[in-house]
Amino acid sequence: MGKALIIGAGGVASVCIHKCCQNPDVFEEICIASRTKSKCDALKAKLDGGKTKISTAQVNADNVDELIALINEFKPDVVVNLALPYQDLTIMDACLATKTNYVDTANYEPLDTAKFEYKWQWAYRERFEQAGITALLGSGFDPGVTGVFSAYAMKHHFDEINYIDILDCNAGDHGYPFATNFNPEINIREVSAKGSYIEDGKWIETEPMEIKRVYNFPEIGEKDMYLLHHEELESLALNIKGIKRIRFFMTFGQSYLTHLKCLENVGMTSIEPIEFEGKQIVPLQFLKAVLPDPASLGSRTKGKTNIGCIFIGKKDGKDKTYYLYNVCDHQECYKEVGSQAVSYTTGVPAMIGAAMILTGKWNKPGVHNIEEFDPDPFMDDLNKFGLPWKESFSPELVD
Ligand code: NDP
Repeated sequence: MGKALIIGAGGVASVCIHKCCQNPDVFEEICIASRTKSKCDALKAKLDGGKTKISTAQVNADNVDELIALINEFKPDVVVNLALPYQDLTIMDACLATKTNYVDTANYEPLDTAKFEYKWQWAYRERFEQAGITALLGSGFDPGVTGVFSAYAMKHHFDEINYIDILDCNAGDHGYPFATNFNPEINIREVSAKGSYIEDGKWIETEPMEIKRVYNFPEIGEKDMYLLHHEELESLALNIKGIKRIRFFMTFGQSYLTHLKCLENVGMTSIEPIEFEGKQIVPLQFLKAVLPDPASLGSRTKGKTNIGCIFIGKKDGKDKTYYLYNVCDHQECYKEVGSQAVSYTTGVPAMIGAAMILTGKWNKPGVHNIEEFDPDPFMDDLNKFGLPWKESFSPELVD
């Protein structure tokens, strides 16, 4: 049905590419392009021989001209950006120049400021609309499936949703005292930032990890979770009718938090460049180089993830509560695609988002967050491609 150019060859891209190959009627041809071509070639070697035709290329996604040349050569119907958030705008520029649809899983972050918000990407709305191409923002799990869950809850269960709590639990154990489950630099920037949530139309800021709750996760049990700032809060507060408060919580174990505090205290999580032996280095980028590669955690990680949303609102004048979630087992993911569940839960929705565009099920020129589309075909594909969802009408609530 179509051609996809996948940029990046890391943990998330690897899962997405496996899943494209499991869906060859939609993904007839893919090109894997990244900074390090050998990683693209290794993925091709693993997956070649099926119905999906695979090619590889080297590209520096910070360079718009290189991207344009690659897109003009391969002529994809959609570009799936699974590099890093720093590359969102250059890839969007190349898509605009070549009139190609765009999908990503994380919103733009400037390299020198640990701040993520949608304003930079939303500024492309008119230009994408005029070019007649669709940009689908945030097609991972969170953001991603959490937005699809919200649109599904709104469409089928509520007249208005007043409260959303997004709960992200990773109960996986990789046996290392400290490692991150996706790109360490992006992960540490996210968790060491101030927390925030939206209440009555206003952002309320907290100190990092200031708000802690204990939650009894289905199929996992009790875990400590902490309120974080997260990008989908910004778009869901605008796109879901009736929102009074929306929060995001993520679980962290004590060992992770103790190591993080120590690294912060000695300056290793800083993104300010320092002079080291006559060279400028960024401490956080150096830390990334010495931490385990998230892609290598797959075989070691045991346990489950549970990510979902609790909705409280009104239906036919009555109060209603609804919890939608997915439980994913790290070892099952590893058996299937050779990756742990954090890459899996992001790579599967990235493939589904691209499939929605390639099949024409989602086709809305402009720049859109995922909850702006019809959730039903995406929810069907989650069940079909390894992320089945579960629902509860009387969940434990978060105070
Ligand atoms: P990795 O670090 O494993 O992979 C990133 C890939 O991008 C690498 O192959 C890297 O190349 C490549 N890359 C980086 N910079 C460039 C560049 N300038 N040009 C070309 N290629 C480049 O990251 P993950 O796979 O863990 O994460 C990928 C994305 O997914 C991130 O944006 C992350 O924020 C997002 N994510 C989203 C989640 C969600 O639920 N929405 C959850 C988890 C992650 P090289 O191999 O040379 O380093």
